[in-house]
Amino acid sequence: MSRHKTLNNKKGKLIVISAPSGAGKSSLIKAIINNNNNIELSISATTRKPREGENNAKDYFFISDEEFNALKSKDDFVECALVHNYQYGTLRSYINKRIDKGINIILDIDVQGFEQIQEASIDNTSIFIIPPSIEELKKRLNIRGLDSQDVIETRLENARHELKYANSFDFRVLNDEFDDALKSLVSIIFDGSSKDIDTEKSTKILQELLS
Ligand code: 5GP
Repeated sequence: MSRHKTLNNKKGKLIVISAPSGAGKSSLIKAIINNNNNIELSISATTRKPREGENNAKDYFFISDEEFNALKSKDDFVECALVHNYQYGTLRSYINKRIDKGINIILDIDVQGFEQIQEASIDNTSIFIIPPSIEELKKRLNIRGLDSQDVIETRLENARHELKYANSFDFRVLNDEFDDALKSLVSIIFDGSSKDIDTEKSTKILQELLS
């Protein structure tokens, strides 16, 4: 039996989570999905090549530029963007099907995608993950060792740009302590509450990151 129950035809929620690369977003999302029922990560389409250990139709739908452009011209994406020189997009039919089944869907997308979702007036709860510092961000990007130095530099530049959008999101969650950040996310997603968030601290760190 599927672990997803349809809740009296109640539609699922769309949860948009953005963060600069290295803010720890993927680990937090993984933990939310593994520890809770009725919530999934949307599988995006991308023209980026799979990294070691990534699988088609599980991590992403890995497609060519031609395929991506064909889908885009048919308006098959709810949102799409060029991120770190590759195209990424959320498939409209994919998320509509999941939401209609009552499944809560997380969109792990960049700030450009978030803006498109807002412009299209699609109902969503949006959360921005704030890294503890630029130094920590650099450290995490280097430790990941997934990318070349050039790619890391591009991502750092993009991180500084993305941080400027943090205040446009419904909620900001500081990821300096993994367990605290996870608790905050769960409370926002499932209780619609922000009571666990240390707003003062995250505002201060955000100001430092932007200065
Ligand atoms: P990665 O290549 O490391 O998996 O993802 C790079 C960035 O692309 C991440 O910040 C992620 O949020 C973003 N991304 C992944 N899928 C989508 C998508 O469908 N739309 C948009 N706009 N961004 C995406």
